[in-house]
Amino acid sequence: MVTAGAEQPVRIGVLALQGDVREHLAMLREAGAEAVAVRRPQELAQVDGLVIPGGESTTISKLARTFDLLDPLRAAAKEGVPMFGTCAGMIMLADRIEDGIPGQETIGGLDVVVRRNAFGRQVDSFEADLRLADLERPFHALFIRAPWVEAVGTDVEVVATVSSGPAEGRIVAVRQGHLLATSFHPEVTGDSRVHALFVEIVRQARAAGEHAG
Ligand code: GLN
Repeated sequence: MVTAGAEQPVRIGVLALQGDVREHLAMLREAGAEAVAVRRPQELAQVDGLVIPGGESTTISKLARTFDLLDPLRAAAKEGVPMFGTCAGMIMLADRIEDGIPGQETIGGLDVVVRRNAFGRQVDSFEADLRLADLERPFHALFIRAPWVEAVGTDVEVVATVSSGPAEGRIVAVRQGHLLATSFHPEVTGDSRVHALFVEIVRQARAAGEHAG
């Protein structure tokens, strides 16, 4: 049965511990979602999906612990709440990290190995046009001390790789069911298509939940 809820825009949270919170909120709204900042477990419980912004994964991880959010975030990811991690957010979603600090904790859920600051000091920050699965035109991507995905499990779909230069072939966007992650910052280049892909993932997850319920 179609419920009234199916007509409502999806409500997506942006984890607001550190990073480009406002930019993500704006992109999600442009992509047709209702968007709210999330700092507390009660706020997390009220969203259909969550964006985890970039910043510094070690700091986000510590703040999530301090704010009593790390375990609720892990539980939500396990329960199937869609999450989209960008840069440090990708690191937060990874099951395994290379070059993390000792004891660095993640939310996990993505069956990948992610290497922090993978592109090296010389290329702290760079831009590249990427071909993303499901997007017709290339996406102009901004990388800032970005991680890359070093290894993926069998259920992980590679959504984008770097197409030229010294890092050619490196994996910079992945999806595993309800979890999406990019090494780059799609919130700052004025193109909401990656956010739109995530909004669609959230819509489908909510619709599936409504049918199941
Ligand atoms: N290098 C950062 C980290 O390890 C990520 C950088 C970013 O999010 N722009 O968390």
